Amino acid sequence: MVTARRKAPRSAQPKEMGERMCAACRVRAPRERLLRFVVDADGRLWVDPFLKAPGRGAHLCYAAACVQLAVKRRAFQQAFKRPLEGVTLERLAEQLVEAQRRKVEALLSLGRRRGAVASGLNLLEGLAASLRLVLLADDISEQSAERLRRQVSCPVLPYGDGGALGATQGKERRVALGVTEPALAAELLQEINRGHDFGCILSTTTDRDPPQPLLALEVGEA
Ligand SMILES: [Zn+2]
Repeated sequence: MVTARRKAPRSAQPKEMGERMCAACRVRAPRERLLRFVVDADGRLWVDPFLKAPGRGAHLCYAAACVQLAVKRRAFQQAFKRPLEGVTLERLAEQLVEAQRRKVEALLSLGRRRGAVASGLNLLEGLAASLRLVLLADDISEQSAERLRRQVSCPVLPYGDGGALGATQGKERRVALGVTEPALAAELLQEINRGHDFGCILSTTTDRDPPQPLLALEVGEA
């Protein structure tokens, strides 16, 4: 038997590894895998989608359940050790949906710059076999959507409108985007699903319709 290795001092470990604790369920995870929240000068709570806001932060798992629990148990007030403004489930869910939208659009822009995102229906049909994810704007014609779905074997998701998809590609309007890089496709799917989950919180706190289920459209016909 080898003698036990000397452990690093316990208190130094989490910081060194960049770990943070979820303020709701208390699970530890690497900082990049958690939601971060900050408080402004007026004591209002904000989501920090790109983990860049200065100052002290509080963290939560990317889970609707942890967001709900944190609000219910006043976990943000405890984490920041002060009274806070704007800690309602509805306001936070709105911010989280918006944060996910910004993240997805940032990923699509980055993807375009390194040639991992294609647009234009003809080009997408030509690339069909190498596509790993297709996003369809809600203003695409029924016919074009069907044609594309028939040709690809990757997940096909509804996402935003032609203007929003186009903006990520430096174009005025794009009704469909295709992602060719597997890692980027996986990351996009994850962020889109998270946004969908936060959208579901909103439909429980308001009389808004729940977001479209993603799975129903996920797999194109082979
Ligand atoms: Zn949690």
